[in-house]
Amino acid sequence: MFCSSCGKQVPANAAFCANCGGAQPGNASTRRLARPLVGRKVGGVCLGIANYLQVDPTLVRVITVLLALIPPFPAVLVYLIAWFVMPAEELYVAPPAANGAGYVPGAQSNTTNL
Ligand SMILES: [Zn+2]
Repeated sequence: MFCSSCGKQVPANAAFCANCGGAQPGNASTRRLARPLVGRKVGGVCLGIANYLQVDPTLVRVITVLLALIPPFPAVLVYLIAWFVMPAEELYVAPPAANGAGYVPGAQSNTTNL
């Protein structure tokens, strides 16, 4: 893979170019911490964090519940703050087709679980 800014070779999973520091599209720099609309249990905070860190959402939920049960860790407060701060993932709605078919539910499912 080659840097989109300077053209020098960079590792395939690099977020930034080691030569010029340019962000590499499609890698970590383009991931957003957001609450997905599909698959959430409460506020989507755990699912959003799991998607961002690319780990199993169940693991994040279990850790969050365990932290909420242990008195010194204010996991509930942190969750509520994250719920307020993290943006909801935008729902992609396809523009109406020229033939009037319009939005087809499920047709753009690849945009809801990044
Ligand atoms: Zn570069």
